[in-house]
Amino acid sequence: MKYISTRGQAPALNFEDVLLAGLASDGGLYVPETLPQFSTEEIASWAGLPYNELAFKVIKPFVADCIVDADLKQMIDDTYAGFNHIAVAPVQQLGTNEWVLELFHGPTLAFKDFALQLLGRLMDYALAKRGERLVIMGATSGDTGSAAIEGCRHSEHLDIFILHPHNRVSEVQRRQMTTILADNVFNIALEGNFDDCQQMVKDSFADQGFLNGLKLGAVNSINWARIMAQIVYYFSAALAVGGPHREVSFSVPTGNFGDIFAGYLAKQMGLPIKQLVVATNRNDILHRVISGNDMSKGELKHTLSPSMDIMVSSNFERLLFDVYDRDGAAIDQLMARFKAEAVQLDGARWDKVRALFDSYAVDDETTCEVIKDVHAQTGYLLDPHTAIGVKAARECNRDASVPMITLATAHPVKFPEPVVKAGLESPQLPAHLTDLFEREERVEVLANDLATVQQFVASHVHRN
Ligand SMILES: *Cc1c(COP(=O)(O)O)cnc(C)c1O
Repeated sequence: MKYISTRGQAPALNFEDVLLAGLASDGGLYVPETLPQFSTEEIASWAGLPYNELAFKVIKPFVADCIVDADLKQMIDDTYAGFNHIAVAPVQQLGTNEWVLELFHGPTLAFKDFALQLLGRLMDYALAKRGERLVIMGATSGDTGSAAIEGCRHSEHLDIFILHPHNRVSEVQRRQMTTILADNVFNIALEGNFDDCQQMVKDSFADQGFLNGLKLGAVNSINWARIMAQIVYYFSAALAVGGPHREVSFSVPTGNFGDIFAGYLAKQMGLPIKQLVVATNRNDILHRVISGNDMSKGELKHTLSPSMDIMVSSNFERLLFDVYDRDGAAIDQLMARFKAEAVQLDGARWDKVRALFDSYAVDDETTCEVIKDVHAQTGYLLDPHTAIGVKAARECNRDASVPMITLATAHPVKFPEPVVKAGLESPQLPAHLTDLFEREERVEVLANDLATVQQFVASHVHRN
């Protein structure tokens, strides 16, 4: 399968090149040239498959010309064997036709494990084949960092450097990163804020000379392989509640639009999905685009659902590419304008977006209320991101006879503040993490200075 850039200029690449490249050379994002199609009968025949076997069916067409079946199967099996629930992605019923899809049974208790556990293995595999090494550099305000580190800790051909703002991530989140003592894992606590961390990573990607010939790779959700891995659980969830012979709807707590874009792809590949609901917090650019054709950057607001605190959703470009009939030049122009000012989509394009997605924005107060109400009604404890998804699902549901599945993107123990604000007891760490607070930490506190950080990275990378 070939992959093409949303900006139309970069060369088409195969899966392995896209995996290692991250961003396209024209500044665009890679998408498959064509999508695999599955018939209803074929999807129905997957009912009852274990998660890893289903993942193999869905992922195989995207990578088949680069990875032989047996190797792909092994990587997928290893990835999901590391999850702490036998069903990997179980669904729980909250009410009549109301479900949550628990995506927090991976090693770091958030859905990002689904993609990053596989991504680390895929990258290592490609690098081994080529006899190359890659350096991963990423910035995190919490979740992505720990999931990326967990995904790469066993990789023999990668070093990973994760920057987090010193003293500005929760203790659980910090410890999930800094207690991984593998030789190829480096945590940098930057004396600055999250934006400083991100800027530092951006500047390093722009000029990689400090690495003396080594190259940087990306693990954020611009990497196509992450989206690909996330398509699988839309199929597994639909099958679990009666699909594909009946339609299902999904509500997705959304930040960078990676997770919900995977749902959109599942639908394009043949899964009967009725509604896709974009659930945002007060950082609501996507809700404003979908409901009012207002694509303008707002101020960044810090909320009780920090993993969705974004001003711009980078993966939305992948959707716009389809909505603009894959006209790369049009996307290039639109994104250039958007960099400078607020933009509106052409009327007919916006209609397409509105036909595909519903949306709803939820503030902190309502988030706490939903956590409290759902707990009172069902005894089930939602994390704040998931609570936003449940609220949006209830507000946007257009057909009570269709199962509505909210993606539970994190375990509530990761975000105790809103749970306590809702008047509930703070949840306990699951068994595999109970000694987290006793484990040894390794972290380097560095000044907010590009040369200092790059010097640290260059002197710690492993070379062949
Ligand atoms: C990353 C994250 C999200 C947002 O996912 P996107 O793919 O960026 O839209 C939602 N909830 C949690 C807990 C996350 O970690």
